[in-house]
Amino acid sequence: MFLAGSLSIVLMMTAAARTIGELRSSGHVRENVKQEMRRNLLARLRTGEPLLPGIVGYDETVLPQLANAVISGHDVILLGERGQAKSRIMRSLINFLDPQVPAIAGCEINDHPFGPICRRCLDLIAKDGDTVEIAWIDRDQRYGEKLATPDISIADLIGEVDPIKVAEGRYLADEMTIHYGLLPRTNRGIFGINELPDLAERIQVGLLNIMEEKDVQIRGYRVRLPLDLFVIASANPEDYTSRGRIITPLKDRFGSQVRTHYPLTIGEEMQIMEAERHPVPEDFELIFPTFMKEIVAELTHLARRSPHISQSSGVSVRMSIANFENLASNAVRRAARVGEALAVPRITDLAFLTSSTAGRVEIEALDEGKEEQVLSRLERGAISAVFSRHFSAAQFDGIVARFEDGQMLEVGEGINARTYTRAIGELPEVATALKKLSLPDRPEVRASVIEFLLEGLHLNKRLNKDEVEGRAVYRR
Ligand SMILES: [Zn+2]
Repeated sequence: MFLAGSLSIVLMMTAAARTIGELRSSGHVRENVKQEMRRNLLARLRTGEPLLPGIVGYDETVLPQLANAVISGHDVILLGERGQAKSRIMRSLINFLDPQVPAIAGCEINDHPFGPICRRCLDLIAKDGDTVEIAWIDRDQRYGEKLATPDISIADLIGEVDPIKVAEGRYLADEMTIHYGLLPRTNRGIFGINELPDLAERIQVGLLNIMEEKDVQIRGYRVRLPLDLFVIASANPEDYTSRGRIITPLKDRFGSQVRTHYPLTIGEEMQIMEAERHPVPEDFELIFPTFMKEIVAELTHLARRSPHISQSSGVSVRMSIANFENLASNAVRRAARVGEALAVPRITDLAFLTSSTAGRVEIEALDEGKEEQVLSRLERGAISAVFSRHFSAAQFDGIVARFEDGQMLEVGEGINARTYTRAIGELPEVATALKKLSLPDRPEVRASVIEFLLEGLHLNKRLNKDEVEGRAVYRR
């Protein structure tokens, strides 16, 4: 308690400092960015605060490794397939930065007031000493990010010399002639680089030099640029390990390599879906039954295990999120069309997931052209798995008996709820299922549950189904 109290007093005092002199007398201690991150990380561990808020499903796997890397002061490479929250992890690392840090006011590269590296600030301090003004930088301004592409240049990443000034005879290593690139502008912060293997080899060398805090070559001129950075990069594991994509010394320079993964459980997949999806328009009430969410999550999990889908690029969590959103939208569209106030996704809505699924999965070459078949097989697998999680086909003899007596029911994404409830809504097994699924008893919800039961019975070979153009008829 005493420690926390005195610390906050120091922070208040330093936050008030406006010049280098005031900062010095406030007792401010200079740290590099890695020391700062380690201190804040350890403080979070002591208080039990979540390390990286909003990162789901990594508590036992990725986060401990990442924390160790930060404690070790390592730069980090995250290896993982698409949609494993790699970019989000990178960005959320600013949680390990102080809310504000002092820098020399007006410096392009956030020079520390006690140790400037740019020519402008060195000259300024030589002239004005302790009266030089400082600025306080927020932590979200201390994160720089770049998607690696083959056309990134040294100028983009590190900087460019002005050939005219050089020709005028100014001293070559004079940093006044440099236009700083993204890395120097992120000085004293965190630099994230996505898809590292896509960086041209020449640029990888530049990055390596910066990380080694040595001289760097700009257009053949050697410039000393001892930047203070925490570098975190990401890569697809296959690209990263394939020969010749990353220069070996750069690989060595990343002290820790952390492997990310997809949500291990359906529950975590659902948790991410819920957290990330766009809100539904407020003019409709939406009930998204849990069993439908489970089907969406299960579909993604099955796709990640399917031999017909390319697993080297992976199946992103974003597929679950987009499918979730599209199911909700289809239910809202139906509600608007048939004049219902309540939107409830149902099985026949799954047919509309092609637009959010195709493009997020890569069908293996052997199955090319069979995309629809592959996806509908996965869909049936997902429904079947979720059905057996809640029910057994044997418990619906009453429904089957009704169909044996000649009942037929046409279902479809555009058919109103009353049509379903009139047909078999009064059967006690429907009410039992509603209760089992913890759903409220309303006609639109009943319609959704009825479709789930009928499809479950069909997949368990207890009912027949004829399909034509997005409509289906269940019969015996
Ligand atoms: Zn400066």
